[in-house]
Amino acid sequence: MLVTLRQIVQEVSAAAHLDEALGIIVQRVKEALPIDACAVYLTDAESNQYVLMDADGFNKASIGEVRIDPQEGLLGLVGERRELITVSDAAAHPCYHPSSATGEEQYQSFLGVPLIHYHRVLGVLVAWKRAPGQFDKDEETFFVTIAAQLAKAIHEAAAVDEVSRMLSGEVQGGAFIQGGQMAAGVAIGTAALLDPLASLESVPDRPAQDIDVEETTFRSAVAAVHKELRASSERLAADIPDEVRALFDVYAMLLGGDGLVSDALARIRAGNWAPGAWRDTVVDHAQVFERMEDAYLRAGAEDLRAIGQRVLLQLQAEARESRQYPQQCVLVGDTVSIMEISAVPAGQLVGIVCMHGSALSHTAVMARALGIPAVVSLSPMPVGRLDGCEMVIDGDQGRIYIEPSRAVLDAFQRLIVEAQARSERLLALRDLPAETPDGVRLPLYANIGLVSDSVAARDRGAEGIGLYRTEAHFLLREAFPLEDEQYQIYREVLEDFTPRPVILRTLDVGGDKILPYFPVQEDNPFLGCRGIRFSLDHPEIFLIQLRAMLRANAGLNNLQVLFPMISRVSELDEALGLLARAYRELLEEGLAATKIRVGVMIEVPSAIFLAAALVERVDFLSIGTNDLTQYMLAVDRNNAQVVTPYDSLHPAVLNAVHHVIKEAHLRGKPVSVCGELAGHPAGALLLLGMGVDALSMSPASLAHVKLVIRSFTLQRAQSLLDEALGMEDGFAIHRLLNGALEEVGV
Ligand code: PEP
Ligand code: MG
Repeated sequence: MLVTLRQIVQEVSAAAHLDEALGIIVQRVKEALPIDACAVYLTDAESNQYVLMDADGFNKASIGEVRIDPQEGLLGLVGERRELITVSDAAAHPCYHPSSATGEEQYQSFLGVPLIHYHRVLGVLVAWKRAPGQFDKDEETFFVTIAAQLAKAIHEAAAVDEVSRMLSGEVQGGAFIQGGQMAAGVAIGTAALLDPLASLESVPDRPAQDIDVEETTFRSAVAAVHKELRASSERLAADIPDEVRALFDVYAMLLGGDGLVSDALARIRAGNWAPGAWRDTVVDHAQVFERMEDAYLRAGAEDLRAIGQRVLLQLQAEARESRQYPQQCVLVGDTVSIMEISAVPAGQLVGIVCMHGSALSHTAVMARALGIPAVVSLSPMPVGRLDGCEMVIDGDQGRIYIEPSRAVLDAFQRLIVEAQARSERLLALRDLPAETPDGVRLPLYANIGLVSDSVAARDRGAEGIGLYRTEAHFLLREAFPLEDEQYQIYREVLEDFTPRPVILRTLDVGGDKILPYFPVQEDNPFLGCRGIRFSLDHPEIFLIQLRAMLRANAGLNNLQVLFPMISRVSELDEALGLLARAYRELLEEGLAATKIRVGVMIEVPSAIFLAAALVERVDFLSIGTNDLTQYMLAVDRNNAQVVTPYDSLHPAVLNAVHHVIKEAHLRGKPVSVCGELAGHPAGALLLLGMGVDALSMSPASLAHVKLVIRSFTLQRAQSLLDEALGMEDGFAIHRLLNGALEEVGV
């Protein structure tokens, strides 16, 4: 049974479109079990009715025609109860309400199971037997298991279908893809596929701009791969047996063999760009191998695809150098890294769409810092077909509009103008202090990742830099930046803000920030060699960074250093020891270095309970609520499927933050918060109530948070905090805070 199940799910997942997937489901399920009819109904998003999408054993004419109200009949019961229901004699059941169009009156024994994905009932899978009687336990298990797996496949197939219909202009009006919010705001732009050549399957079609250039590029890529194969074979000559080495000759032969190159050239001459022409050629030739009887020959398809990928990589290297981005560019990719974001020329990037990520991923953090909207799609999209299409990104609602109608474009254009006016109104607060009506000052700092971000930080009234993510620069490089290069960068940002404080955080790589020139293979990188662990594992790299920071501070004295991901006191002691060593070394070398303020990030749960010991050793604490939430609640900050459980207003997180602030204050040390909670109006309000000493956030959030601070007295914030801390559930806390913010209109 398991094998049949797996086969059905695989076939459904491989279906080209939803109708095909549904056809496979009803036919294969009916074949697999002793049933007389199988039908699948899907929920119509607009009417909420169940629509009969396909059936085996029903009148064919009823398919697509029959619609059942959500409360009607046995089907309605399954959807309402959200569980498997079997009825041995349907006609005797009070909910029995057969549709005459389907011919289902001829059947008596009923089984229905809901198709649920992301808490939504997508539809109902139904089986009928002609004779009355029970379904046995194995059959029930089969249905429950297959429904759970099919719901996901149906959801994905439906999403891909929807995008295809949008692209072909079949869907009119305001149709959109519902995704998840990553960064707020609205934008209209042209999709630019990220690394469109990453894999053969995802290469988009694109007209060749200049056929001769495409042809030359292609020929040189093929020649380069030939050369590479020869060189690899020679390099390994001493290490591998000749018969294994002969594999390189097989690859070279495939590449030089009949038709591959000439077919691709013919396709280029017909007008497709080189990668598109190459993709079609490789797929065609691989299919010839795949159809062969002999298993050994069939394996040739794999070799062909491997060689195809190699040539593609060559083409990719050349394309990267000459990449042009649209003027209003929406970057679209599976994941969009901060390196890819920074490759788009300043001012051209208006939005981001990715298939993986969440509001807390570093992509989102970067998008917010740039003030551009970002949305993560919750379902797969035919990404290869999106290049160059027009898109609206609604980061406030988490929606993506593909090839939208004129009316949608006009409506969003109006929203963009309004948002612009609103942000100008907020910017008027720029030079006013973040001070409550009862006179409590709360300094607002900016989180930045590149020196160039400091312009936005200053323009939006940041009173300093509360978190400089130094890894951003490391991620953009081809190798570790040396001391002088780092010195220049840190110096620039310290000079930009002097005499205001600048908190430089030491390298926080690992997790989702993998250095391209230092790849690490870890099953669970967020629990692996991340943050301070990496730095302590590599004192040679850490010392260079510390020395560069201390040197950059000479004569300015506005540097503060922050250690990320501290989970044990001994890590802090070791880090402080290395800092002291860097300081001593500089003095011994006759370079000016002064003592600086040092802080620890509280972002790992163990640090909450070590707050007292940690703060005794340093000058301040900074709470990183992004990671703290991830690690306390065991929810991945980058996983769009768990955006609801990921909540920094969760009472456990709030209590932890409150505890840390009290521990530090007991010892006379200040605490700031630099996670996204600080830039969230509700979060900022609660943190004000907790008596936090400073907030640090994306520059784009500064004005709004300032407005919040200026709208609430400390006393009111404290009473809201008391109420929130007495609550057991994050939703209630959200409601409480949203209500309070609405009352004062901020
Ligand atoms: C945090 O974890 O809250 C934080 C500010 O650090 P980052 O987002 O860079 O991990
Ligand atoms: Mg962190």
